[in-house]
Amino acid sequence: MGRWPPAALGVTFRRVPESIYTGGCLCGAVRYEARGVARYVCYCHCESCRRAAGAALVPWATFERAQLRITHGTLAGYPSSAGVLRGFCSACGTSLTYQSEARAADVDIAVASLDEPAALAPRMHLWVQDKLPWLPISDGLPQYPAGLGDEDG
Ligand SMILES: [Zn+2]
Ligand SMILES: [Zn+2]
Repeated sequence: MGRWPPAALGVTFRRVPESIYTGGCLCGAVRYEARGVARYVCYCHCESCRRAAGAALVPWATFERAQLRITHGTLAGYPSSAGVLRGFCSACGTSLTYQSEARAADVDIAVASLDEPAALAPRMHLWVQDKLPWLPISDGLPQYPAGLGDEDG
């Protein structure tokens, strides 16, 4: 049997490697891996994220919750709003995940906790009504005053 596909077709069939995103907290006690596709990648300007991360804004990537696996340590949880659980490292405090009952199949992962955060660029700004006045937005990305309609910070 000859090669398939024939070289003349100019195509090769290759298993596309599944995307695996790894990351973890500052001290290394909590490590995770997320597989699949990040459905949304956003900047969140809400006050809750700001305080949870101690940062002016927080980039998040949304994955299927079933695709996130904690590979080392234990994710601690803090219910920052009704139906919301923020995951963090109890040793160093790094903010790692956000889960909302309003999006029960999703988990948001803090992009800045990824080993290769440059791979997931935010595509929009959420909760711009909470944005700090000294933080300019000049990237041309869409801006939404609040969330995408299903929750609050
Ligand atoms: Zn840690
Ligand atoms: Zn937020």
